[in-house]
Amino acid sequence: MKLITQIARPKRIEDVAGQELAKQALLSIAKKPYDSPRVIILHGTYGVGKTSLARAFARALNCQNQNNGDACGKCYTCSINIEDTEFYEEYDSSIIGNVEDIKKLREFFNFNSDQGYRVITIDEAHLLSRQAQSSLLKVFEEVNSRVFFILCTTEKDKLLSTIQSRSMDIRLNKVPDSCIRDNLKKVAEDNSITIDDKSIDLIVSKCEGHLRDAHILLQNYMILDEDSFKKLVGTARKSFLGFYICCYLGDLGRSQQFLGELIKYPLSDLKRDYEALLLEIMECSVSVKEPKDELMRELMKLMKQKVLNLYYIMVDPIIINSFDNSDRFQAAQYDIYLKINQKMR
Ligand SMILES: [Zn+2]
Repeated sequence: MKLITQIARPKRIEDVAGQELAKQALLSIAKKPYDSPRVIILHGTYGVGKTSLARAFARALNCQNQNNGDACGKCYTCSINIEDTEFYEEYDSSIIGNVEDIKKLREFFNFNSDQGYRVITIDEAHLLSRQAQSSLLKVFEEVNSRVFFILCTTEKDKLLSTIQSRSMDIRLNKVPDSCIRDNLKKVAEDNSITIDDKSIDLIVSKCEGHLRDAHILLQNYMILDEDSFKKLVGTARKSFLGFYICCYLGDLGRSQQFLGELIKYPLSDLKRDYEALLLEIMECSVSVKEPKDELMRELMKLMKQKVLNLYYIMVDPIIINSFDNSDRFQAAQYDIYLKINQKMR
């Protein structure tokens, strides 16, 4: 079976999901490579397209029929795997982590050709030792103008300031849900994978802006049966939120329904989702985060309307300690429901 993370790799810079600013910056460099900075730092959280952009950039630089800075997707260079050519090399910092490794590669880093450009990507660059980073600095000065270095990192601050100051700094953000949804639909269509919109939505909400996670989940969708997949991607968040909103509105019947949903989850999932939800409510209530859906907006509205501080009640230790037993869990939730009602009167 083909790996989704591999078959979904974008060929052109424009095909990378989201990252509009980063794409614009790389397209401008690919258009005028001779007077651009030779060292580029791509930084941002994991799984949002750093190495994908680096590969697409190498292809754009070497495309024989470049179009507005991007690869054409059709010429010979575009049709082969860029990783298999002399135009692109990718190293993990675990392989070139110390000074000796970099010394050994020094010769190779140069690109002795008057045709094309070599892009050298160092992934997880923040894991290079300080000494290794210093010797890299020397390499940057030695290499000819046909070499670009791309340092991919999730922790830019761990790079030497001397490296940062001589690099072009490009920040990558989490990929918006709408881009992930479109990307999943396209990957599924291109590869004849049948998947319904509801399952795509589940993946989108689970992967939280990390496209690579979305691709791994799509792979799981292909392997697992429906129940196992739902267990993998489902969270108790919506059921918790529904329960609290119904408690707030005094709708006992529906709050019992949500309780019924909650006790179907494995205990470890309940604890994890409950903690994540508390954090989310806290962040939304102090406006650090925008409510991500209608349910959270509804809860925030209710919290503002009533004097009662729902968050205070939710962190009641009774509820956390009751998670080890579904009967106790129900009893504790009911207890909380009564408390809310008493306070609201
Ligand atoms: Zn091309």
